[in-house]
Amino acid sequence: MTAVSEEIRLQGIPISGGIAIGTIHVVHHDDDWVVPEYEIEHIEEEIDRYRQALQKSREELLELQQFFEGEGAAIIGAQIQMLEDPLLTIELESRITLSKKNGESVFKGFMAEYMSFFSEEERLLDVKDIAARVLKHLYPHGTHPSIGGQGIVCSYELVPSYTAEASVQAFVTEIGGSTSHTALIAKAKAIPYVSNVRMDLIREQSGSVVIVDGNYGSVIVNPSPATIKMYQRKQQGQSVRFEPIHEEEGEVRTLDGTLVEVQANVENLADLELLKRAKIRKIGLVRSEFLCMRKELDLLSENEQYQIYKKLVQLAGEMEITFRLFDIGSDKKLLSVKGHEPNPALGERSIRFLLKHRKLFTTQIRAILRASQLGNVHLMLPLVTDIHELIEAKQVIYEEYKNLGMTGKLSIGCMVEVPAFVILCDEFAEECDFLSIGTNDLTQYTLAVDRSNPRTNDLYGEAHPSILWMIAHVVKVGDAKGVPVSICGELASNPRYTQTLLELGVRSLSCAPRYTSAIKKAIRQIDLSK
Ligand code: PEP
Ligand code: MG
Repeated sequence: MTAVSEEIRLQGIPISGGIAIGTIHVVHHDDDWVVPEYEIEHIEEEIDRYRQALQKSREELLELQQFFEGEGAAIIGAQIQMLEDPLLTIELESRITLSKKNGESVFKGFMAEYMSFFSEEERLLDVKDIAARVLKHLYPHGTHPSIGGQGIVCSYELVPSYTAEASVQAFVTEIGGSTSHTALIAKAKAIPYVSNVRMDLIREQSGSVVIVDGNYGSVIVNPSPATIKMYQRKQQGQSVRFEPIHEEEGEVRTLDGTLVEVQANVENLADLELLKRAKIRKIGLVRSEFLCMRKELDLLSENEQYQIYKKLVQLAGEMEITFRLFDIGSDKKLLSVKGHEPNPALGERSIRFLLKHRKLFTTQIRAILRASQLGNVHLMLPLVTDIHELIEAKQVIYEEYKNLGMTGKLSIGCMVEVPAFVILCDEFAEECDFLSIGTNDLTQYTLAVDRSNPRTNDLYGEAHPSILWMIAHVVKVGDAKGVPVSICGELASNPRYTQTLLELGVRSLSCAPRYTSAIKKAIRQIDLSK
């Protein structure tokens, strides 16, 4: 009997959405390029060779830049500018002249010095990227291995241009945040990307089949035939969802003229670029826990958070923004210390956690309230189950509001994520300025199916009749009480269900940025009068 490789399930952080199935290609990005060092006779020829390497690098980057817009193009533009830095032109040429050494050895020696001028991690990665590109032309060894169309690149870290040039199915890295340049480019190219995955668990598996789920951060090595089949089904579901993101200004109406609001969910600052292109006016959900992902949440100071929120509010400009307070716990392991819980999805998560850890709660509240002075901000509470949680949370929020010397009324709403909330919706609506249905968790808690367990994925019915019933009920209550209701779970991003949701009375959908155009298109083809 042949041994069957065991399925290995790894959990990372989702950076760029989508699902890919392919084979593992481990890429080693060795900073320490080995180049020969020798004396040269013809200095002018050597300088000319160096200039050509810079010129070729520049041409490559210009060509690459054409494929991007916004932030992606800006990243590459910054690299092009770097190539024009007098230190890389005049200084380097004079070093070749003085040392009488070959270009690659002088350039390599100088780059170590040049990197020390940059402390910011992203810029440093750009410099490494430039260094690798120029060296590739001076000494064409160790260039990126060519990877077939089915390749899934796994690497400790990736430099931006590699991400931009690679023709691959997905990326998996050990380091790299959701706002890293690599991430921005992966998103711009709609390539699934998961980071925070330990490479020592993957390195040995080169050539094995792997599934990368960029929506949930799962990486499954040696998947069983059943797992592959399940993810293939999911892939088919997503293929209708990628749409070009350019949009005309204007309202979104069905064929019979019903107005529907399309909002967007935001997880990082880079998403704002997509929203602007898609002419989105309202951010229906900021997953603040992901926005702040650069550090464990309990280690982030009020001021550090304020800077992040302020930047978002400033980038959002005229857009309304709904900040969801930290959704900690369950599958989101975002704290430096969090004790083990036997059943975390039913444990101390979200609002329950915040109410028990006041310092963390008030630190975030203060940071958001300070940033709210600069824009149009709403606050949203995650996983509210009991009316007392809502009342207590509001008290904490208003107390900090008062402490900051602010007055007036805040806009505070709740996520609808547990059946208890739906059942008591009348009562909750009295205390809320708006409601947003989180179908991802609502489905998990209604159907008793763990949303992050691939083994029960086939039981996770995203449009189960019970969920549709709940949506209709919440919308009805909201309409009767004059409380706006929106959907911000994944269901809102799937055009297959848009008609059903509108027929249930839903008039506001908050989608993942990449899907807003597909949803708008679907809405414009629906006739609710029939
Ligand atoms: C949800 O539960 O539907 C939701 C939008 O929140 P999250 O996916 O972040 O849990
Ligand atoms: Mg949720």
